[in-house]
Amino acid sequence: MARKRKGLLLVVSGPAGVGKGTVNAMLMQRHPEIKMSVSVTTRAPRPGEIDGVHYFFRTKEEFDRMIEENAFLEYMHVFGMNYYGTPRSFVEAEREKGNHVILEIDVQGAMKVKEACPDAVMVFIAPPSLAILKSRLVGRGTETQESIDVRTATALNELKMLPQYDYMVINDVLEEAVGEMESILTSELLRTERNTTLIEKLTGGETI
Ligand code: ADP
Ligand code: 5GP
Repeated sequence: MARKRKGLLLVVSGPAGVGKGTVNAMLMQRHPEIKMSVSVTTRAPRPGEIDGVHYFFRTKEEFDRMIEENAFLEYMHVFGMNYYGTPRSFVEAEREKGNHVILEIDVQGAMKVKEACPDAVMVFIAPPSLAILKSRLVGRGTETQESIDVRTATALNELKMLPQYDYMVINDVLEEAVGEMESILTSELLRTERNTTLIEKLTGGETI
């Protein structure tokens, strides 16, 4: 039975290097109905990062213009250096089509989304330990020593925000973490408040 309903908004946070990108990429490979929101940032691209795929890389002036136009669902000054923001239009259009949208954003941005969209599903990806987190960040080979130090220090403050989230997924064995993300999606889609149209039809005695 086809159930037409609005797609989920999944907010996925977790410290840098925990594996958010890796987990989400695998999840999307398996579920084409899940779309990743591409953020706008003023930071410089890392080697291999493509404009419009990993981020929309923009100048501070362009970013400011988007703020004025109310084009962001949320935006944030992250790590005291760069701006990051979630374009509003993509999220709304995809959810209306019934697709699920993932926002991979920091904890402060996540709290703003939770306020603006109370039906958002808040997921925190945590590391098995802080030592493993640091080794993944170093192993990725994308950060300077200074950046690793800043991000490791930030990680502790981010972990303290865990109780604000609906779900905690520990990314130890990748396959298991992806399976847990799938379980969250399944459970959320079964919530009665996400199926009000169907419930109204059933209780109204209509043939479906
Ligand atoms: P994030 O998006 O959270 O910053 P990434 O997805 O870039 O993190 O992952 C950081 C590094 O950790 C990458 O080199 C990735 O291959 C590795 N990684 C991710 N998940 C796991 C896992 N479950 N076990 C071991 N290494 C992992
Ligand atoms: P990175 O520079 O490693 O790509 O990302 C740095 C941090 O910015 C990460 O914690 C990432 O989740 C966060 N981030 C990426 N896009 C956004 C966004 O649109 N809004 C907010 N608030 N944070 C974001």
